[in-house]
Amino acid sequence: MIIYDFKCDEGHRFEAVVDSMTSPNPDCKACGSGSRRVPSRVKIGNSASAGTSRDEMPRSWTGISGGHPEAVSHWRKKMESREKLEEKYPELGGDRRPILAHEGIFNGRPLRAGDDIGAAVKDAAQAATSVTGSAHSHAHPATKTKVH
Ligand SMILES: [Zn+2]
Repeated sequence: MIIYDFKCDEGHRFEAVVDSMTSPNPDCKACGSGSRRVPSRVKIGNSASAGTSRDEMPRSWTGISGGHPEAVSHWRKKMESREKLEEKYPELGGDRRPILAHEGIFNGRPLRAGDDIGAAVKDAAQAATSVTGSAHSHAHPATKTKVH
């Protein structure tokens, strides 16, 4: 079952569910004339039109500006609209495997159930090292401007 947007010869736009990509296009519900598929308003992989992805959202309330009420309600609204979108377009759900670790070296690249743990740790450790390295080089100018 796939949801498509259709447009009929008279210009009516409507959504319909078809069994597969090769199913015939349904007739217009308003006027009965033939229709053609139009590109969906939700583009898979385009975060600008699909909203915030789950990976971009905070994973716990403590991760939201120290639990600031305005920030929490902002993210809660985003999460609710995202959930409605995913009900309609389940393929937007993305990777929903449980996250085993998302702190320390896994910050920004969570370790999920089913991942190759050895490879994930190696990747994450390398990324963490390169971040530390650049932070270290930035620290030098600060020591030079120290007042004696
Ligand atoms: Zn029509």
